[in-house]
Amino acid sequence: MTDCIFCKIAAGEIPATKVLETDDVVVFRDLNPQAPTHLLAIPRRHIATINDLQDDDAGLVGKLYLAARQVAADEGIADSGYRTVMNCREGAGQTVFHIHLHILGGRPMAWPPG
Ligand code: AMP
Repeated sequence: MTDCIFCKIAAGEIPATKVLETDDVVVFRDLNPQAPTHLLAIPRRHIATINDLQDDDAGLVGKLYLAARQVAADEGIADSGYRTVMNCREGAGQTVFHIHLHILGGRPMAWPPG
């Protein structure tokens, strides 16, 4: 999608600090980190929200979590623990309409979330 900031990051058209790239998934550092480690895992293909996922996307969603597992190990937060969050639409706080899995760690996480 031409006006999507995360599509542009995936395509290398705007800068981001990428920590993992595969054929299907890109993981990069959040611009406004909410924890010592705050990464975003996105599919290269534009999907606006969780509501737009199709049955055929099951493998792709799994790849986002496998990427999270990888970068959590790389960042040294796998053992201490980390949180993965995917917000869906405005009521949940989604501001960028290209699905992304937040990966947050390096500090204690409270529950319930705000
Ligand atoms: P959400 O509110 O769940 O849609 O999360 C969007 C996230 O994208 C926020 O945490 C932003 O800080 C982050 N973000 C927005 N633009 C960029 C960018 N250009 N590079 C890295 N992170 C970004």
